[in-house]
Amino acid sequence: MPDPSLTRVKRLPDKARTDRQILNGILDAGMVAHVGTVDGEYPVVIPVAYARQDDQFLIHGSAASRLFTLLAAGSPACATVTILDGLVLARSLFESSMNYRSAMIFGTFTLLEGDFELRALHTITEHLMPGRWNDARQPTLQELKATYTLAMNITEWSVKVGEGDPDDNPADLHTVQGRDLWAGVVPINSSYGVPIPDPHVPQETPIPPYVQKWRV
Ligand SMILES: Cc1cc2nc3c(=O)[nH]c(=O)nc-3n(C[C@H](O)[C@H](O)[C@H](O)COP(=O)(O)OP(=O)(O)OC[C@H]3O[C@@H](n4cnc5c(N)ncnc54)[C@H](O)[C@@H]3O)c2cc1C
Repeated sequence: MPDPSLTRVKRLPDKARTDRQILNGILDAGMVAHVGTVDGEYPVVIPVAYARQDDQFLIHGSAASRLFTLLAAGSPACATVTILDGLVLARSLFESSMNYRSAMIFGTFTLLEGDFELRALHTITEHLMPGRWNDARQPTLQELKATYTLAMNITEWSVKVGEGDPDDNPADLHTVQGRDLWAGVVPINSSYGVPIPDPHVPQETPIPPYVQKWRV
């Protein structure tokens, strides 16, 4: 069990958020987590797809993967999810920064099997590709055997949110350079592009309605 003092934000604690709904919002908005653990002497941090299922953080990957083998064996883990909301251009380079929402979860993963695994895979699929689970072929027993599906209880977590205008040193607002310099926030948004069919799709096959909805 991780030490709860791990999750107390010390640096810029005004950016810390303790509202569970904010945590859930970040986890539900993201698609990629960076999951870190220790392999022997060294830390490894690997980006993976994930989903939240109630109070559990779910990932899946190859049973042959180093990360998944370590995590399935109970190696302590830390998962981070970051949503980048904007670049903050301050008058000084020192105060220039980013607006973001980020979450960190600490704990250990457990291996899911049987119906628990299938439910988790459904949740991951529907989080990343809403509508796809019922359309695509279901996993075979052999595919399930080759997959580790892991869950971590979301009990030890922290959230940090950077938002708003640049936090300039007041002196920089009145210098010749600072007074006339543009400063503010340049928002960053992720969006879906136009779907591109692969060469095997017959020409008359329409883009599924659920995929069309993703762009709205
Ligand atoms: C997109 C992005 C860009 C960033 N760029 C920089 C940068 O260039 N330089 C920089 O110094 N910092 C940056 N940060 C902030 C950085 O993530 C750390 O919060 C900061 O460096 C303080 O680290 P620390 O180890 O002193 O934190 P501490 O406050 O000592 O960490 C204590 C605990 O607080 C929690 N915590 C710390 N940081 C976060 C976080 N980001 N999200 C959720 N929980 C957290 C964890 O539970 C951690 O164990 C950035 C954050 C994001 C999301």
